[in-house]
Amino acid sequence: MAKQIRILVTGAGGFIGHHLVNRLKDEGYWVRGVDLKTPEYEAIRADEFEILDLRRHDSCLQATRGQIDHVYNLAADMGGIGYITSSHAEIAKNNILINTHMLEAARLNGAARFLFSSSACVYAGNKQQSADISPLREEDAYPADPEPGYGWEKLFTEELCRYYQRDHGFDTRIVRFHNVYGPLGTYEGGKEKAPAAICRKIALACDGDEIEIWGDGKQTRSFMYIDDCIEGLLRLMASTYHEPLNLGMSTMISINGLVDLVMAIAGKPLIKRYDLTKPQGVRGRNSDNSRLFQVLGWEPSISLEVGLEVTYRWIESELKNEGRIGVASASQAA
Ligand code: NAD
Repeated sequence: MAKQIRILVTGAGGFIGHHLVNRLKDEGYWVRGVDLKTPEYEAIRADEFEILDLRRHDSCLQATRGQIDHVYNLAADMGGIGYITSSHAEIAKNNILINTHMLEAARLNGAARFLFSSSACVYAGNKQQSADISPLREEDAYPADPEPGYGWEKLFTEELCRYYQRDHGFDTRIVRFHNVYGPLGTYEGGKEKAPAAICRKIALACDGDEIEIWGDGKQTRSFMYIDDCIEGLLRLMASTYHEPLNLGMSTMISINGLVDLVMAIAGKPLIKRYDLTKPQGVRGRNSDNSRLFQVLGWEPSISLEVGLEVTYRWIESELKNEGRIGVASASQAA
């Protein structure tokens, strides 16, 4: 009988990690999940789950013990643009500690493969100054001018993975995610990203209400549905590719366009109110998927219309369960 592959997912209490654990269990892998917290919205399906603070080297050794074959290192101190611009020192320090200790512990404990979750925030700011920019190719991260704090840490950890590959023959993978969204993701509290925040605001609004948009709404991004993200992760882990690789949709949309899509799904005509004092990140960003397709023979394809419908309905049902939809309209009508 073939040996069952043993997998460690760090950040398994978070959005992408939780979906990844579910998919790995569906496929019959043995899975250990590690995080500071358990998943918020669903029970854990991992064979083992441990609460550990991965900023500590001893915790990373504990997480990687016992002949782990593949490590998906998804743990990070992160959130949407408001969160990652709020404290560069704390976020960079936390992530430097997690990633440095995880790489070294996984190597010491003999893990066969290690995947690092990087971000489109590594891309040079001076190449993202207009809303209709060309899609970003992997080499556009240099000359380096990444997002302060969070982006610099991701870019340096990419380099660290390459050093481990070169100096220790440690088998690393580096994925650069572009805006992942879907159900079971944080939609409130300060760490939520734009699609979840927009779905929440629209779900809570009544026809004709105003909703607040950060910036002028003309900034552009691409958004990848979670199922595509997980498919890409599994394919990259199965590949032999060690250099940084984009994982995102290559269709760009403005924040205004995203809001219009969610309003159409909700069937609610609302008024957009722009808050230009709020952080909005780079002006334009999109993923060039040429290398992704060349390496994996695949690219994400789930449309925003399909993915947002599922995401909106999930956030709406959560808010209904919390008794927050209906209550507001009733009190306004009174
Ligand atoms: P998430 O915040 O939902 O999950 C990250 C998890 O890491 C959280 O559950 C958190 O508790 C855990 N964590 C934080 N500090 C920890 C610590 N010290 N010890 C143990 N666990 C700790 O975020 P996500 O969206 O699932 O992101 C997963 C990875 O993908 C992260 O590395 C993130 O930087 C990267 N990424 C995500 C996106 C996106 O759009 N979601 C985009 C770019 C990059």
